Amino acid sequence: DVRRLIAGNWKMNGLEDDLAEVTTLAQRLETPRPDNVDVVICPPATLIAPMHALQFDTIGLGAQDCHTEESGAYTGDLSAAMLRDAGACYCIVGHSERRDYHGETDEVVKAKLAAALKADLIPILCVGENLETREAGKAVDTVVAQLKAAFPGAGKGVVVAYEPIWAIGTGKTAGPAEIEEMHAALRQATSPDTRLLYGGSVKPGNAAEILAVSNVNGALVGGASLKADDFEPIVRA
Ligand code: 13P
Repeated sequence: DVRRLIAGNWKMNGLEDDLAEVTTLAQRLETPRPDNVDVVICPPATLIAPMHALQFDTIGLGAQDCHTEESGAYTGDLSAAMLRDAGACYCIVGHSERRDYHGETDEVVKAKLAAALKADLIPILCVGENLETREAGKAVDTVVAQLKAAFPGAGKGVVVAYEPIWAIGTGKTAGPAEIEEMHAALRQATSPDTRLLYGGSVKPGNAAEILAVSNVNGALVGGASLKADDFEPIVRA
């Protein structure tokens, strides 16, 4: 069986005070320890090293983005090796907010994914369609094409997160049938042991239903990952 992964994406939220929240979460995950699930928080990059210093063995750490290059004259950017150095084990690449607000193309995402792998980070590759594409009946083809463009060598070591753009931060989630159809296509395009996550308005109240869909091996959680009260029940769903 594929080991479940519940990852929290804090996006641009979190100051040093919020380390108290992650400490609460880590303590609550001590007893009982959830079985057969990896828990990861992707805080803003400024909090990776401070979280790492707290040495929680129930919570892994991830970055939200990395640069394509290993080092150089790229003011303001962070390389995958730096994020690894700070304590990250995972790195989100190709989040729709990066694609939209920073103009990241499939080609850039592919290079970031390769950079993450090279630095020994496990990439969490995000793919997902917008509402127009969904309504035009082209969601599956579009998302599979996005996956293949960034991740030509289907295989181990990469996590794929299906996040329909219209479900992110909107309170709407894709229905179980929509998720099942998409995840079946993503399974076919990857491998039996690739972890396939769903993301987009995952909350304590809908997590169990979403996680029960076949080929869903976990979740990528935005807003509901910020508070231990919301995130813990998702981890245990
Ligand atoms: P929300 O859970 O806030 O909808 O965000 C989803 C997301 O974008 C996670 O990467």
